[in-house]
Amino acid sequence: VKRGIALSVAAAFIRGATGITNAAEREKPTLCADPNTIDSSQASMRASLNYTDISKDAARTCTVCAFFQPTANDCGTCQILSGPANPKGSCDSWSAKE
Ligand code: SF4
Repeated sequence: VKRGIALSVAAAFIRGATGITNAAEREKPTLCADPNTIDSSQASMRASLNYTDISKDAARTCTVCAFFQPTANDCGTCQILSGPANPKGSCDSWSAKE
């Protein structure tokens, strides 16, 4: 029984220590770009800029990026990616809206 409790405590500690990453992984983002139909140049750009549909930094999301234009479907368009972006997403080219 003690060993089980120790393992539970250790698992809770690990979950707490990695909470931000786990929260980002648990949150299901709106699918703004279908990975099966996006063209290869856009896929390459997204990969090179480390684009993610859920930003690891809540203060640096596409919604507050200068290159983001919202669209009517809970998504948006990014001038840098030349294609769809998730408002909660982010990439290495993030720049604050003025
Ligand atoms: S440049 Fe990056 S952070 Fe800014 S809107 Fe485009 S994908 Fe989002």
